[in-house]
Amino acid sequence: MIVIRADRAIVDGAEQPVAVVVDGELIVDVVERDAAVPGAEEVLLAPDEVLLPGLVDTHVHVNEPGRAEWEGFATATRAAAAGGVTTIVDMPLNSLPPTVDVAALEIKRKAADGRCSVDVGFWGGAVPGNEGELRGLHDAGVQGVKCFLIDSGVPEFPPLLDPTAALRAIAAFDGLMLAHAEDGALVTAAKGRHYADFVASRPAAAEDSAIARLLAAARETGARVHVVHLSSADALPMLAAAKAEGVRVTVETCPHYLTLTAEEVPDGDTRFKCCPPVRGSANQDALWQGLADGTIDMVVSDHSPCTPELKRLETGDFGEAWGGIASLQLSLPVTWSAARERGHSLADVVRWMAQRPADLVGLSRKGCIAAGQDADLAVLAPDETFVVGQLHHRNPLTPYSGRTLHGVVRNTWLRGAPVTAVPRGRLLRRE
Ligand SMILES: [Zn+2]
Repeated sequence: MIVIRADRAIVDGAEQPVAVVVDGELIVDVVERDAAVPGAEEVLLAPDEVLLPGLVDTHVHVNEPGRAEWEGFATATRAAAAGGVTTIVDMPLNSLPPTVDVAALEIKRKAADGRCSVDVGFWGGAVPGNEGELRGLHDAGVQGVKCFLIDSGVPEFPPLLDPTAALRAIAAFDGLMLAHAEDGALVTAAKGRHYADFVASRPAAAEDSAIARLLAAARETGARVHVVHLSSADALPMLAAAKAEGVRVTVETCPHYLTLTAEEVPDGDTRFKCCPPVRGSANQDALWQGLADGTIDMVVSDHSPCTPELKRLETGDFGEAWGGIASLQLSLPVTWSAARERGHSLADVVRWMAQRPADLVGLSRKGCIAAGQDADLAVLAPDETFVVGQLHHRNPLTPYSGRTLHGVVRNTWLRGAPVTAVPRGRLLRRE
């Protein structure tokens, strides 16, 4: 047995002094800071450290197998652990084959097996014509399936222009559908180095239109849906109304939408390119309001790296560059640095980045510090700063390079032991 004593820990939604008792892989008790725990090995946190539950990042593109030169399970999960993230859920596209049937899921599990430093779950994919595969994927343990309502950027993962048939299939077994919500009819081809032109090519109205379509289909079918990477704050009233009306919808946004603004993106700096795009500062303020009032449920990374060549930094053309921001290792300090400025607490950050993502995928032993939970923990020094330098990501490009951030992750525990170079991560199945 181990007892971890912390003057500051996030437990039951608030910061408090506790002692966490760990037996094997599990938290078996949470007691008073100085309670006697006979026979237990003692671990004392420093006064400037806060004990958090390990974060759960349900939006990670690992890209292995098939595009492992973009990112792979070993590097992605090492980066996750270094950033205090103890569970990731891998997206079904950009790897080859895409995870659109059970055979492809098994290929992906084989690629991940034995290489992971944190626990890894998997999303399946919904593409035109694979409605018949969705039940099989669900039964094989995916946490849900993802679709695109617009071109995905890779030809092997075509969009579902009308998600109704897939949603009907999913509703039959009470599954979960994630949707990349942009409307291709309102998006134009981007070209050139001017960031403002790129944002104009993918307007907020394109997101709003696709979200309206998704909500209508969810209403019609009764299926559970989740909007990934919300950038348009204009969609918040519609999402809040749908939630109030009982539509089964949840919403995530990402650290980049909460911390980067269109005004500051240098022309030609394609490290900032993602779809939907980072928008203006007034939009960002409204996204924070949406998080504060609960319309946005959670913050996940959408870590989606590629090779440096594909970012086309030499031309800086936002039309040609791959869209995706690398941030897995940094999502906690990036989000915390901005959250503290806006008066939010670490308990808020834990709710957005651990508890709610765990709830989304129904991982009942992840996302909080309580008896019966996996002993997945992160030790954070929230007031210490660091400058973003070398990361564990396979490729070094990130828009956060050189930034000074608050929040140093000093240690990460996975199921009862600190993460080391030996990969102990497990492949998860839906409970
Ligand atoms: Zn993504």
